[in-house]
Amino acid sequence: MTRPVLDVRDLRKRYGQGEATVHALRGVSMTVGRGDYVAIMGSSGSGKSTLMNILGALDVPTSGTYLLDGVDVSELADRQLALARNRLIGFVFQAFNLIPRTSAAANVELPLAYAGIRPRERRRRALAALDVVGLAERAGHEPNQLSGGQQQRVAVARALVTEPALLLADEPTGNLDTRSTADVLDVFDQLNAAGRTIVVITHEPEVGARAKRLIRLVDGRIVHDVRQAPVGVR
Ligand code: ADP
Ligand code: MG
Repeated sequence: MTRPVLDVRDLRKRYGQGEATVHALRGVSMTVGRGDYVAIMGSSGSGKSTLMNILGALDVPTSGTYLLDGVDVSELADRQLALARNRLIGFVFQAFNLIPRTSAAANVELPLAYAGIRPRERRRRALAALDVVGLAERAGHEPNQLSGGQQQRVAVARALVTEPALLLADEPTGNLDTRSTADVLDVFDQLNAAGRTIVVITHEPEVGARAKRLIRLVDGRIVHDVRQAPVGVR
């Protein structure tokens, strides 16, 4: 068996101390294999953001182990951690976080600039990533010249351009109308069909329904973890 992209064991996260202790995660275990497409759902306060921050190596658990593409994240020093994060994870957030007055292509190139890739190669890869999300023709447009759905697709291209092992999205359609949500979900389907591993955190049932696997969090625990039939055959 090939090693999973994510392998977490008994993750626990406590905030605060004494009377004020909050148990945000109470023992979460799961593995996500290469090519899977997982939606994590749960009501407000169920621990989604806490889990996302740990999966994204943005925060550390109180206890438990976490392997990201086989690497034990808890053993990495800050600098190695930052490098592992940049190399292994592409983030998509609810707010698109594009740089204003900067072209779509330049926005997408940014992670490659941090990785020290040369300008000509950066531009080539950025244009290829924009093509994947259907925005090759908008490469020269600045964020305020793009719709919300287009901006989020630029953000997806930016997340993909480094060829990460995992695309990790936190409420990626939270700021989008129905039409733009459909466009972004179509891009996710297409990326997953091409072999990308996707984990999306969402509270929208129609977004969760599109994933191949649905995990439900209640009060810091996984209460459901089910495979879903493809949308077309339900
Ligand atoms: P969700 O994203 O599902 O709404 P969170 O992971 O944000 O849930 O929160 C889970 C629980 O942990 C909640 O009870 C929340 O109030 C608490 N919590 C989250 N972050 C902190 C923090 N930095 N300090 C204290 N409590 C926190
Ligand atoms: Mg949250």
